[in-house]
Parts: sequence; structure tokens; C-alpha cells
Amino acid sequence: MNAASLLVYRYTRQLLTAIDDLDLLGPRKGGKIKGIALVCGGSISGLLTARVLSDHFENVLIVEPEEWLSQATEAGLWLQQHPFGGRTKHTKVPQYTFMHCYMKIVGRVCMRMFPDFRSELEKYGGRLTSGPYNPHFNGYLTASRPWRENNEDYPYCSRPLLETTIRRLLLKVDIPDAKLPDLQRILNKKRNDHAEKLHSIHEWWLTEPDMDVTNFGFWRMDYNKIYIGYGGYGVKEWPKFIHGFREVALRLRQAKPMAEWVFEIFEFLEKEEFPIKIDTMRLPPCLYINYAAGKILPSNFVVIGDAIHKANPIKSQGVGKAAVHAATLGGILSRCTGPRLPADFATSFFKLQEKRTGNMWSVS
Ligand SMILES: Cc1cc2nc3c(=O)[nH]c(=O)nc-3n(C[C@H](O)[C@H](O)[C@H](O)COP(=O)(O)OP(=O)(O)OC[C@H]3O[C@@H](n4cnc5c(N)ncnc54)[C@H](O)[C@@H]3O)c2cc1C
Repeated sequence: MNAASLLVYRYTRQLLTAIDDLDLLGPRKGGKIKGIALVCGGSISGLLTARVLSDHFENVLIVEPEEWLSQATEAGLWLQQHPFGGRTKHTKVPQYTFMHCYMKIVGRVCMRMFPDFRSELEKYGGRLTSGPYNPHFNGYLTASRPWRENNEDYPYCSRPLLETTIRRLLLKVDIPDAKLPDLQRILNKKRNDHAEKLHSIHEWWLTEPDMDVTNFGFWRMDYNKIYIGYGGYGVKEWPKFIHGFREVALRLRQAKPMAEWVFEIFEFLEKEEFPIKIDTMRLPPCLYINYAAGKILPSNFVVIGDAIHKANPIKSQGVGKAAVHAATLGGILSRCTGPRLPADFATSFFKLQEKRTGNMWSVS
């Protein structure tokens, strides 16, 4: 890369990504700002934001309507019972139990904010890996292998595990060890080709909208779970058994048909009679509140994550967006060195936030 390209690269990276802000996260130089920073909502965005704010403000208060989220026993019980009928629900986050995959920035932000993130995640069978991450479009694999295998910062875990891990690290709640049905042990016993595939599975098929409006995938997340996902526009009937998923996978219209091993895995799962639980949900409406265009905003008010911007989840960007927002906030706070926030604090934040994640909305 020549000097001019390097300059452009650095400038673009700084403006459009939160990568450089990661180095700015950490204790505030010159003492914390006096007073209480208030965070509304204690899910992913709220927890990451609270972590950033705790470096800059004397006190941070999270207001969260779901009481069980901060109670060690309840959260522990929830993890234990998931996915076979948990006692408690994240009532305002209906997708909580749904399959989530994450952008790499999620792993990077979490590792930067919580040095023990990897070991805490691994306690419950989550992983930070370099892949394999296999999105197919119209039947063809899209992400190139070298790109995928560069760093071990790609979180492989369910949403409850990611959120609970962040919460445990932030609030220091001690959640008792979960005793879950151990898929790993079952797989270890079956040293055959399909069991090997299930060790590392992360496959999804997105169709070309002209050909089909449904998509399908399966993922192995925490050690005891395999998610099989199916969805799309105008879907009226959902599979209720493994063979139903095999049928929808077979029906997917795409240029390159799915590999035979996909169907063999279904047969394997059926034969082994893995217990299954089926969940369905309608996607909530999309939303973008353009605070960047706001004229009269309080200087100490920022909005992060889905509260500003809830796009179609098909591209799995929601949690990544929250991570970018939290790191952006940390970067801006570290540049405000005075004892109070400057008058243009909120405006600067919303402008940068729009540049960095506005496109997630436009392309969804
Ligand atoms: C079906 C589906 C699949 C998805 N898959 C993925 C995926 O694969 N990858 C990905 O990255 N993203 C995915 N997303 C998006 C992702 O789930 C969201 O982007 C993410 O939950 C946003 O986190 P958040 O903390 O901003 O908001 P939420 O998770 O919605 O949390 C909001 C919190 O605020 C609390 N709250 C609500 N009202 C109030 C109030 N009045 N006062 C105080 N607190 C309040 C709630 O109890 C909750 O704890 C998916 C979304 C859906 C719908």
C-alpha cells in the first residue's frame, strides 16, 4: 500500500469503523465525571454501554424491568433449563431464544472490555473462533477462507449465553454452573463423519429474492445445542419435526443445490432422537429514529442499539451494531477530557453513529 492509499485507509477506518476506538477504551484519564450515568435497558446494548460509562462516571445505574436478569439463581436456572422450556422469559426481547450469529466486532469489543471474556464464555461451551463461518448465497459459499480464518474473535454462542456472560462479567453475579444435556459427549461417542461435521457447524443458505423468499440454516452454538432455522416472507406453516426441516431445505430454490451431507445430517439427528424444541416468531417491524437530524437534543443523551435502529435481522448485524455504538461512545468520551460533557457531545455522537451504522439500515 502506498502512502496516499494508507492515509485514505486510515481515515476511512477511523471514520466508518470503531476499530481504532477499541484502543481508547479504559479508565478515564484525570478522574471520573461526577454524578450518575443512567442506562435504560440492561440487555446487550445496556450492558456494554454501562461498561463504557463505568470508566468515565463515578456511578452508573442500569434500569431494567426484568428483575430476574440480575438475580444469580434465576439466571442460572434459566441457563440450566434452556432450551427445554426455561422458567423465565426475556419478555421484551422475543428473539432471545432465537439463533444468533455475530459480527467479529462483537468478539473484539467484548475481549477489550472484559479481559476474562473468553474463559467465561468457554465455561458454558461458547467459543471464540476463526470459523468456520459458512454463509451461502443462492447455493454458493460467499465468505473466503483466508478472510474467515485470520483471527480468533468470532463468537460462537447462543444469545442467552453471550448476554449472560457479559452480565456476569459486568455485574459480577456468580451464576451457578449449568448442568446441561451434553451433546458433546454424545458426539464424542459417535466418531463418524456426521458427528465431526456437527462439531463445527455454521451453515446458512440465503436465497436470491427473485428465486425464493425463504432461507434456511443450521448452527452449532454452545456445546449442547444445534439450532436449525427456517424463515422468510409469507411463511404460513412451520416444520414441527426434524423431517419437516429436511423438507423445507429440499424445497429451497437456489442455483446450486445443497450438498448431500446436509440431508444426511438430518437423518443422523432423527435416528439419534435428539430432543428438540420448536420456537416460532414473527419479525418485529423495522425502525430507524434519525437522531443525527435532531436539532434540539440534550447534550448528555445518547441512544444505542435497537432503540435507535432495528433493521431486518437477516444479516445478523444487531449485536454488532450495539458493540460499534458502545465502542464509539467510549472513543468520544475518552476525547472529552474536562470535568463535564461538552455541549455538542450528543450531536457528535449521533453524527458518528450514523456514519458507522447508518448503512446497516440502508442495506437491510
Ligand atoms: C428473529 C431475530 C433474529 C436476530 N438475529 C440476530 C443475529 O443473528 N445476530 C445479531 O447480531 N442480531 C440479531 N438480531 C438482532 C438483535 O437481537 C438485537 O439487535 C439486539 O437484541 C439488540 O440489543 P439491545 O440491547 O439494543 O436491545 P434489546 O435486546 O431489545 O434490549 C432492550 C432492553 O431494554 C429493556 N427495556 C424495554 N423497555 C424498557 C424501558 N421502558 N425502560 C428500561 N428498560 C427497558 C428490555 O427489558 C431489554 O432488556 C435478531 C433479531 C431478531 C428479531
